[in-house]
Amino acid sequence: MISKITIFKFVFYFFCIKKMKENTDNNTVSVNPDACIWCGMCVAQCNETFKFQWNSYAEVIKQPETKQELASAKVAASDCPTGAIIVKD
Ligand code: SF4
Repeated sequence: MISKITIFKFVFYFFCIKKMKENTDNNTVSVNPDACIWCGMCVAQCNETFKFQWNSYAEVIKQPETKQELASAKVAASDCPTGAIIVKD
């Protein structure tokens, strides 16, 4: 027989895990690898955030931590010729 405390624990852990997953999915900047044409503009403009993968598309190496880094990433996103960079506020 399942007690009410066990049910409460299950529900509590379910919502905790769900919230943790939301937090880890909440990246501010990302690159759509299918849209990237490897032009290098984002890496040249904002190398603290973007880097080339070996012989492949640009990737985000570090999420912006300051307003200045976020602004720089937004400029890179607006200058990206294919719109491959996604910035969430
Ligand atoms: S600016 Fe856009 S297309 Fe160019 S490397 Fe960066 S993500 Fe790829």
